Amino acid sequence: MAPSSVFLLLFMLLPNGLSSLSNGKQKPVYERKRQEFTCIGCVLMVSIVEQLAQVHNFSQKKLWRLCSYLPEKMNLQGICFLASEIFGPTIIRMIENKMNTDVVCHAIHLCKQKAGQPSCHLYPLPKMGLNVTMKKFERMAAVKILKHMHDLPGLCSLPFLKNLCENIKSFIKHKLPYEDFDGDKFSIFPTLRGYYWRGRDCDDADASVYPGRRPDEWDAKLDSNCNGIWGVDPKDGIPYEQKFCNGTESKGVIILGDSAAAHFHIPPEWVTASQMSKKAFSNLLEALTNELDWPQFSEVTGFLNSTIGGWTESLYLQLRKRNRCNHRDYQNLSKNGGSSENVLELLESLARNQQFDKPAVVIFAMIGNDVCNGSPDTVKHMTQPKEMHTNVLQTLRYLDSYLPKGSHVILIGLVDGRFLWDNLHDRYHPLGQLNKDVTYEQLYSFLSCLQINPCNGWLSSNSTLRNLTSERASQLSSVLKEIAKIEKYTNFDVFYMDYPIKEIAEMWQKMGGETWQLIEPVDGFHPNQIASALGARIVWEKILHKWPHVLGKENPFNSEIAMIFKDQGGH
Ligand code: CA
Ligand code: CA
Ligand code: CA
Repeated sequence: MAPSSVFLLLFMLLPNGLSSLSNGKQKPVYERKRQEFTCIGCVLMVSIVEQLAQVHNFSQKKLWRLCSYLPEKMNLQGICFLASEIFGPTIIRMIENKMNTDVVCHAIHLCKQKAGQPSCHLYPLPKMGLNVTMKKFERMAAVKILKHMHDLPGLCSLPFLKNLCENIKSFIKHKLPYEDFDGDKFSIFPTLRGYYWRGRDCDDADASVYPGRRPDEWDAKLDSNCNGIWGVDPKDGIPYEQKFCNGTESKGVIILGDSAAAHFHIPPEWVTASQMSKKAFSNLLEALTNELDWPQFSEVTGFLNSTIGGWTESLYLQLRKRNRCNHRDYQNLSKNGGSSENVLELLESLARNQQFDKPAVVIFAMIGNDVCNGSPDTVKHMTQPKEMHTNVLQTLRYLDSYLPKGSHVILIGLVDGRFLWDNLHDRYHPLGQLNKDVTYEQLYSFLSCLQINPCNGWLSSNSTLRNLTSERASQLSSVLKEIAKIEKYTNFDVFYMDYPIKEIAEMWQKMGGETWQLIEPVDGFHPNQIASALGARIVWEKILHKWPHVLGKENPFNSEIAMIFKDQGGH
């Protein structure tokens, strides 16, 4: 059947088409049946688009053109646009994910299950059931539309999509951060707290499959812990996971931290006139859906090569190199603004099961926000040592009830932020480079004036205040040190380490660099990519030297794993 005749048929079937042909007397019948007609119309429309994409390999462009031929007044066009948007570029993935027409039409509320009646479907029901698959679809549509918002500005203004867009917006606001279909907190999407933040889910339809779990029946049949190791050695019938990972002290790494640990970064090319271009903003959407953080390059959980200058080194990559059974076992629970006061909120997103999962090394790194705030009365708003003590004990108690036995917690002290002012105040900010007219001192006082200075204590021309802030930071670090010395827990041991800012600067100077080059140029506050990479190297060496058991043994089978499983399914 030629597409045009198909559209004609649809036109006849749709309720709007019928009512436009009907007179007043017939209305009640159609009103009653309106719901059903709408559903059939949607199912037909979506089926056709899906099949055109699948069988004729219609490109999305071609589908869009077809949609535009449809009468604008009717729901048809909207459904057609949506279906081509959903199926056009990703038909294969949709099929893999067992999405079908019924799911789409239920998800966009054109087919509804009536109370006390079975749900109607044209195609075989998805294995996971209609409701689960619908949820999955809703999230997929949300992500797709979010991703295309910049080149499909008109999509949400289509009358039909208005409601959907509203739903998606509120969905993004309320249901995210986890772009996760089976509810195990691990995702197949990079941003929106997806696998840039914690290891990629290798089966997002099965909540018992996720990174960090102890292998189910030695992963003889499938990779239950997503580390890329599974199956049975045909030579002796022993599962590879048992052969290569059993007894190797495999474990994951989890970071509870602030914007430094999430790796906050605003690309300088966004604000530097000489570098501004369309290309400079090509990463804008990704950055925004990632809260302006770049955990994929960060000090603790970085795993991708940096695209924001410097290079990537991380505790996770080291831990993976030491034991390839640790592949994908990382979680970055950090958040911009994280501090000892709100760390319990971050902990709600922890994914670790005492019974089923491997132990973890948890890094607690709230390096500034307990003394940094934008209040004019900044000292008054800093955390008191007593409060710090209470907050951290609460955190550790929580961890003790969730971490598997044999875990470790490392408390990192607060940074001494005086190096920020010392190294930057008389240098030009990217905004002032063109005309040599904005220094960091000016930027800091402008931010203070607006009461949005990220740290009035350290980013200040008042040296007494800077010293006071460092003094409080040092007191708070002492609290952490004391806790590590005294407190004992059932499921982990606790250690303390200073934030190695001095060592990072020294190492960078030895490499020929200058200290100011370690600070984020746009905000003049955060450690940048180079500081993160060097920090990872220093922290790793310190742990290895002082508490080697925290990192586990080196796996003697690493090269065999690499030979058989190559990149272990990638990240
Ligand atoms: Ca998942
Ligand atoms: Ca899963
Ligand atoms: Ca495995």
